[in-house]
Amino acid sequence: MTISAKVLGAAGRDNALFVRVDQGQRLTRLLFDCGAGAAAGIGRAEAQQLDLLCFSHLHMDHIAGFDGLFRMLYARTERPNRVYGPPGTIAIMQHRFQGFLWNLEAGTPGAWDVFDIFPDRLAGARFLLGEAFSTAHPLPTVAREGERVLTTRDFTLDAVALEHQTSSLAYLLRELPRSNIDPAKLAALGLVPGPWLQRLKDGGHGLNDDQQRLREQLIVTTPGDSAAYCTDFLLDEAAMARLVPLLRGVGHLFCESQYLAQDAELAQRNFHMTAPQAAALASQAGAGRLTLLHVSERYRALELHALLAEAQAIFPAAQFPAHWQLGSAAPGSCQRR
Ligand SMILES: [Zn+2]
Ligand SMILES: [Zn+2]
Repeated sequence: MTISAKVLGAAGRDNALFVRVDQGQRLTRLLFDCGAGAAAGIGRAEAQQLDLLCFSHLHMDHIAGFDGLFRMLYARTERPNRVYGPPGTIAIMQHRFQGFLWNLEAGTPGAWDVFDIFPDRLAGARFLLGEAFSTAHPLPTVAREGERVLTTRDFTLDAVALEHQTSSLAYLLRELPRSNIDPAKLAALGLVPGPWLQRLKDGGHGLNDDQQRLREQLIVTTPGDSAAYCTDFLLDEAAMARLVPLLRGVGHLFCESQYLAQDAELAQRNFHMTAPQAAALASQAGAGRLTLLHVSERYRALELHALLAEAQAIFPAAQFPAHWQLGSAAPGSCQRR
């Protein structure tokens, strides 16, 4: 497995998801949302190497920790600073950038690229530290194909806009399939490993027909790992119809589970999810694992055990983040008080 993810924040508090996509030679770090304490939760060394910050939406509990991150990265030039979010993200991020006194930075390098994800396109703007972030320099608009936001050498990132009385984006990260030489097949053919294998593995037009045939014999392609981050939206039939095909077979679903089933009316009214709904999404999408997050602060430990039990009744591989220390459904009296 090369995607590893860590939920940041405690039960009933702001949560975010820090993800590392490790391809051996390359490591990409993504942060989904940035609630209070997110930067501290990642740790300074990791935060300084963050590649992408992806907002589901910009309610306060999803951006309250941005200043802490920004303080570490505002003048960073070692790698691009890139932020994605729903329409309106560019405007709100500019306010955040401008929320400080910048009288010492004229001419200092440092740039932030922010993208509003519309259904059919990405609209981008670049902000410069040396200008005190005063101007939104437009970036070329990028047309979207389907739900795609980004394709890198290692993974694809998709986003779907869902209803939260505003747009809230659900994200899906999928590694590209990996091609490797099968050592058993190599040995069976009596071939000796060496630098020639890399050329064979890379494929392309440089190979003659015999080499191409050998390549097809030796290469095994394994599907990549995947993870999804779904939070803050109404999981009605329309949302299910959009998400289930997109998330099909996702390795690890990280999903908001704001309410107990008995509070379904609150979930409906506030455009949030219940535990059984999150579990139904994991089940219907055929997810490998489900981690519940963003639970309501109204619940105490016993109620959270009940909430987990409701999810596990539908999707047995449901769990809370390990550091919440609410690992298993408590025996016996899991009644809501
Ligand atoms: Zn929200
Ligand atoms: Zn929220």
